[in-house]
Parts: sequence; C-alpha cells; structure tokens
Amino acid sequence: MALREIVKEGYESLSKISKPVTTFDSRLELLIKDMKDTLTNADGLGLAAPQIGVLRRVIVIVDGETEQLVALVNPEITNASGTQNATEGCLSVPGVWGRTERPAEVTVKAQDSKGEWFEITRTGITAVCLCHEIDHLNGILFREHVIEYVEEKD
Ligand SMILES: [Zn+2]
Repeated sequence: MALREIVKEGYESLSKISKPVTTFDSRLELLIKDMKDTLTNADGLGLAAPQIGVLRRVIVIVDGETEQLVALVNPEITNASGTQNATEGCLSVPGVWGRTERPAEVTVKAQDSKGEWFEITRTGITAVCLCHEIDHLNGILFREHVIEYVEEKD
C-alpha cells in the first residue's frame, strides 16, 4: 500500500487543467492503486489525481450503489438533470463545509485502467461526488459552487 500526500488549497496543481490519459500501462495501474489506497486511508468519497499533484484526468470515487471504489479515466459528464442540495467538503480543503447545488442525476462516460469505455448514471451523493471530482480535473474547487458555508457536514 502506497499513500500519496494530498495537497491542500493553494497548491498549484489544484488550479490547473489536467491532461487526458493516452497510455494505459502499468504506471497508470499504479497511480490508480495509490489513489484508491490514499482515498481509503483519508476516509473520503472521492479523489482526483491533481489532489496528489498529478495533472492527469483520473478520479477515484466510492460508488454509493455498489460500495466499491471505482476509477474513472478521462471522465466526461454526458448528461446532467435536475438539481439537488448537497453539503460538500474536500480532502484538499480540510475542515470547510458548504452547501451547494448540484445536478440530481449525472451520466458519466469514462475509460477503465485498460482503456475500455464504460458509462455510469448515478444520483444522490455519488452524483455530487462525480461532479466534484471532475471539477478538480478542470482546476475548479467546490468553493466555486458554495451557496453558504456551514459549521459541519449534515
Ligand atoms: Zn475535492
């Protein structure tokens, strides 16, 4: 198990646009494995590669439907519908929580570690998480979506 350091707000990689993954090799497998270990260790719901200083379009989430960790490479939101209110935090912005408005349901197209395309449609917290992590790949922190800061997560 290899843990990577999660960088905090203000670190350069959090405000940059990550590059697409074009090579599906053992280095990518290792990056995904380290991201899964790091996310589990931090007890979070999602982690994006720029949060460990790697500017590549890779995210790992806890899928609320299967309770499994899922890696999404080159993820893209292909459909978003409805709205929901969420209370969000971020491993790179510790101790800060805010109410946000996110789509109620999103469909995301992505590649797996071998480069195979797949699609998932999710609602609830997993939809929020997908939006939050994909934002990281575009240099966007959840603060940009915060309507109101709150003391603690609901
Ligand atoms: Zn985050």
